Amino acid sequence: MNFEKKPIIIAGPCSVESYQQIMTIAQKIKSLGIEYLRAGAFKPRTRKNSFSGLGEEGLKYLLEVKEKFGLKIVSEIMSEEDLELFQKYKVDVLQIGARNMQNFRLLERIGKTNIPVLLKRGPSADFDEIVGAIERLENNKVIFCLRGLKIMQTENLIIDKKIQQILVDNNPWQHGEHRNYIDIEDINKVKNLDIIKKRNIPVIYDPSHSCGIASDVPKISLEALRNGADGIIIEVHHNPSEALSDSKQQIDLDEFENLLNQIEK
Ligand code: PEP
Ligand code: MN
Repeated sequence: MNFEKKPIIIAGPCSVESYQQIMTIAQKIKSLGIEYLRAGAFKPRTRKNSFSGLGEEGLKYLLEVKEKFGLKIVSEIMSEEDLELFQKYKVDVLQIGARNMQNFRLLERIGKTNIPVLLKRGPSADFDEIVGAIERLENNKVIFCLRGLKIMQTENLIIDKKIQQILVDNNPWQHGEHRNYIDIEDINKVKNLDIIKKRNIPVIYDPSHSCGIASDVPKISLEALRNGADGIIIEVHHNPSEALSDSKQQIDLDEFENLLNQIEK
């Protein structure tokens, strides 16, 4: 694919699950020339008893990954109370997840630091809400990430089937089983916001959480890049079917390598 600038690629498993797991994945990611590894130590899970990360132990493993492989570490911070821990373990980029895009206490606390932030679009955030979130991150280098919109979720939301069909028919990237509505058409609208242009904020896409189905992740990644995304953040696992979170959407290491080859072509 032709790019003015090399796309930003952030890759890694949904969660840090064990020392072995993160080392195996990190080694492969490094060997493919990737700069950023993303993995969660604190996971915002929908259901109470789902695996919610290794916490501090996860951050410890990520620091080892950073030191051993020279990868930059991206990890989600769910509460301002954890900021000291993220600093102690030298996390390079703080991810603010979709659920926290409008957690203003968290944004304002992080906004007092100058740690880079990966800010994800809230599941239903409009453009003004996106601007409001970025305004709070006054001192941070920000990467903004679209990740699909929760206006149509087929498994858990009861929605008029006719409306669903209209949405699917009118969105070339959508099919009925996706976890979220694919918001690729918003990439350029976000890139045109004044604050994004003025601060030179890269706008990337998350194919994994937006569609939720591993077999569609490569296609959505390429479409996002073709439609103006400055990069992608993608969930990659050495054994997706055994993953402790988001197992349906993680692609394996070979699939990731194939996708990179297609991006580089
Ligand atoms: C994630 O990226 O790990 C995640 C939970 O995604 P989101 O915040 O977009 O739901
Ligand atoms: Mn995930």
